[in-house]
Amino acid sequence: MKSLNCIAISRAALVHNFDQCRQLAGDASILALVKADGYGHGMIDCARIFAECGVAAFGVAEALEGVQLRAAGITLPIFVFAGVIPQTVSAILDAELTPVVVDQTVLPELSRQAQLRQIEVGLHLKLDAGMGRQGTLPADFVALVKAVQALPCLRIEGVLAHLPLSEDRKSNNSSQVLATFTEVTAALSRLVPGKCSLHLANSGGLFYVAGAQLDMIRLGISLYGYYPDGHVGRAAASPPLLQPVMRFATRIIQVRQIPAGSGLGYNHLFTTSRDSTIAVLPVGYEDGYLRCLSNKAQALIGGKRAPVVGRISMNLTLVDITGFDTVQVGDEAVLLGRQGGEEISADDIAGWMQTISYEVLCLFGKLNERVLVD
Ligand SMILES: *Cc1c(COP(=O)(O)O)cnc(C)c1O
Repeated sequence: MKSLNCIAISRAALVHNFDQCRQLAGDASILALVKADGYGHGMIDCARIFAECGVAAFGVAEALEGVQLRAAGITLPIFVFAGVIPQTVSAILDAELTPVVVDQTVLPELSRQAQLRQIEVGLHLKLDAGMGRQGTLPADFVALVKAVQALPCLRIEGVLAHLPLSEDRKSNNSSQVLATFTEVTAALSRLVPGKCSLHLANSGGLFYVAGAQLDMIRLGISLYGYYPDGHVGRAAASPPLLQPVMRFATRIIQVRQIPAGSGLGYNHLFTTSRDSTIAVLPVGYEDGYLRCLSNKAQALIGGKRAPVVGRISMNLTLVDITGFDTVQVGDEAVLLGRQGGEEISADDIAGWMQTISYEVLCLFGKLNERVLVD
């Protein structure tokens, strides 16, 4: 038996988005980020679809996710971006994952275990070219490279950095980070003979940072149908636009007539100002439909926007459908996505929650049952 709450993932939209990004990427190859269970869209399903589309590699946060992808039969390179530490080395090598090395800490263990297995490990080094999060600063980078080269069975396959403000088209930060990245990696070309893959751009880098394509682009949000700068990006983009992949629908479980002046739900956060028709939905913060959406969000019912009224509770949400054409128990209500001619986007919901689409997609997708459609 299935839950009344259901996330539909559009395969066609994933393919469309990949193809759009592919065209923008030019000669650069594409690494698809499938961390966070594919931004809530299903890591394994998404990875299989992107593999069919011709993606070059995948990115995950933890080694565990890479191990799960291997168990699902994914054979392309899988980059581990968070948590390449001595404790995860053996899992990383067993699953033939690509370690992203942020400093020298892990190198002795990586080299030791590579020797034991009589393999050479290709790794990518993370430069902190201005992100200020993970990695090694430019001043210490040559020392990191030399530390790798001093150890047996390790090979530098690539160097990467990350952009902190790529979605902000008014900022000149990205061109500064690109300049730092280019300067540091150019100085390495003598030190690291052979092919070394350089990558900097995320979705914002691909769309908004001229010259950031380099050898590979690491794409997340755009593959899932959203612009890194939300509504602004969508409004400014030229067609064909990215297509949102996720739809979140539920079913109405009660339709009530409530007199004017009634307090609704916990804390009576909303009081009816007129005789009202209220639909009850079996969705709540347990499902990622967070409490902060109370009195703010909207749902689509009968192809029209209906406001969420009162407190969202653990499993129940109320919407005001006063004046709507006949609405019945069992009718569909859409919390995210299209119904009829209307659409609620993850950017709309992010606006109500004061966050970004990324967080909405992770929450909804990870907390509800998913089905793959089209
Ligand atoms: C998540 C992630 C990305 C993808 O960013 P988007 O904005 O979703 O395209 C790229 N690079 C790294 C290192 C990441 O962790």
